[in-house]
Amino acid sequence: MNDTAYAAFHRASIEAPETFWGREAARIDWHVPYERVLAYEAPPFRQWFAGGHTNLCHNAVDRHLANRADQPALVYVSSETGAEQVYSYRMLYEEVARFAAILQAQGVKKGDRVLIYMPMLPEAVFAMLATVRLGAVHSVVFGGFASASLAARIEDAAPVVMVTADAGVRGSRVIPYKPLVDEALRLAGTRAPARVIVVNRGLAEAPMMKPGRDLDYATLRQAHLDDRAAVEWVESSHPSYILYTSGTTGKPKGVERDTGGYAVALAASMEYIYGGRPGECFFSTSDIGWVVGHSYIVYGPLIAGMSTLVYEGLPTRPDPGIWWQLVERYRVTVMFSAPTAVRVLRKQDPDWLHRHDLSSLRALFLAGEPLDEPTARWIADELGVPVIDNYWQTETGWPMLTLCRGVADLPVKYGSPGLPVYGYDVRLFDERTGEEVGPGQKGVIGVLPPLPPGCMSTVWGQDQRFLDTYFSLFPDRLVYSSFDWGIRDEDGYFTILGRTDDVINVAGHRLGTREIEEAVSSHGAIAEVAVVGVADTLKGQVPQAFAVVRDASVLADPASRARLEAEVMAQVAAQLGAIANPARVYFVSQLPKTRSGKVLRRSIQALAEGRDPGDLTTLDDPAGLDQIRQALSDVA
Ligand code: ATP
Ligand code: MG
Repeated sequence: MNDTAYAAFHRASIEAPETFWGREAARIDWHVPYERVLAYEAPPFRQWFAGGHTNLCHNAVDRHLANRADQPALVYVSSETGAEQVYSYRMLYEEVARFAAILQAQGVKKGDRVLIYMPMLPEAVFAMLATVRLGAVHSVVFGGFASASLAARIEDAAPVVMVTADAGVRGSRVIPYKPLVDEALRLAGTRAPARVIVVNRGLAEAPMMKPGRDLDYATLRQAHLDDRAAVEWVESSHPSYILYTSGTTGKPKGVERDTGGYAVALAASMEYIYGGRPGECFFSTSDIGWVVGHSYIVYGPLIAGMSTLVYEGLPTRPDPGIWWQLVERYRVTVMFSAPTAVRVLRKQDPDWLHRHDLSSLRALFLAGEPLDEPTARWIADELGVPVIDNYWQTETGWPMLTLCRGVADLPVKYGSPGLPVYGYDVRLFDERTGEEVGPGQKGVIGVLPPLPPGCMSTVWGQDQRFLDTYFSLFPDRLVYSSFDWGIRDEDGYFTILGRTDDVINVAGHRLGTREIEEAVSSHGAIAEVAVVGVADTLKGQVPQAFAVVRDASVLADPASRARLEAEVMAQVAAQLGAIANPARVYFVSQLPKTRSGKVLRRSIQALAEGRDPGDLTTLDDPAGLDQIRQALSDVA
């Protein structure tokens, strides 16, 4: 009964998008009402709420001053520095409007870009909100990216001002930012900004400040103490930000987001997907450098009048109970994290989850990587709340597949993110024939345009690249390609099988990396695994698995190692058939991941085939790759 309620809701959003989204638009303030809900004269380019004027910062901050001025808006906790501060909406307004005045004094105006390269600090959030307040466009670059990665993003956006800090800190290790920034600015040459605002936390050695270019934030703040910049109303399609994809499959793409459509999409998602209510606390453990941070640390919770918990630190320090301690202290009701972080916690003593009062928590949402059943089941059992998988991309800005439990009480099926979200006409295609495939058949996950509000408008400054990258799946039809492979069951629930680039072709059978990974990780001894297809003269490709064990002592001697490898293989053969059986199972203590926590399968595959690992700018810890090299050479 409930699933039909959701099906009807979804169908209405697809069949009459203008009626559907016109109703949702009332969730935000419009300075000038829009003329048309959807302008779609040049598909796949579209404009949501054409002619309307609004502002993201107004909707996230100013709008709440009337009723929630003294309510917490931003709760900042750093387990690295011990800092802890609660900003009410009034305080947030003051900081943001002042920061905007500072940017204005440095020449920032509507349409200009501001590059934000910051650790998890309240000032990073102030800078984002201040930028959109002025109708300027932010480009947040994950703090700690090497200078070459930063320089490439500076060159692409040509910012007028950059905002940075003296240093970031991770696991007590201080990472000085300023030298990285100086080098990036040098590399960016004429595209480098004229002004760099530095938030000095006093963590690194006093940063070298270049006179005329570098400005100390505390000094500016003092000088502008009483200044407040007004909101600049912008047309709904005006860009709010640029954000680069994580770079898991290669060169990151500069995703451009609009203003009005994004605000409406986020506002609706807070109710229909997250069930977050005004006045409550939302805790997303992501980083502002990623799309989850943009949508669900900064804009979503604030637009909804919630307080957002901004956390700097690891999930395991000072102890593996830190997240739960924060949930208790701030009465967090909705939490958002990533499977990779949950796997880290799963290696710890589960007792850490039971030392705190978690009664406020209603649900945990996870996104970013496939959520395997054992991980999902473990955390759901430990927390005693629903654990909901969200499938989406930097490009979409908000979930594309999940269970919208704010609409209907849909049952969770572990291993599946669920159903197409309202607004998304999701289909599965056989990419060779272009035909849609039915339940039980594998295909590329595509979306029929128009993409709903909140999804990317284009690739920054490169409309043609937007078309060529995302809409060239078929020559004769416009379909947005997700570049992910999936399958759907009879109830319409999707399972993500991996990236289309990673599909393994064994003797004519096509297998998703995810299918084999799920089978491997269902063995109790395995904590985490990556499967890649490796070229094979006989079969075309064979799967190879790189597994992290839960307890390293099982690998103590070669005999038990061989026994485990045989057990894992037998398990895969039993679940998926011999065709999917990995040719080898290598044991490592760590997998190479991007800084956003995604497994770099393309680099593992390259090493396994004796090739160069390729672009490593988004690699987190080089030790992960060394482990793969080591494992391969041990047997060679
Ligand atoms: P690039 O596009 O530059 O290679 P990326 O795809 O890793 O980088 P993101 O936009 O951060 O950059 O990640 C989106 C991708 O993450 C999805 O396309 C999908 O492959 C994966 N993903 C996200 N959420 C899930 C999920 N719930 N289940 C499975 N995979 C997911
Ligand atoms: Mg991608």
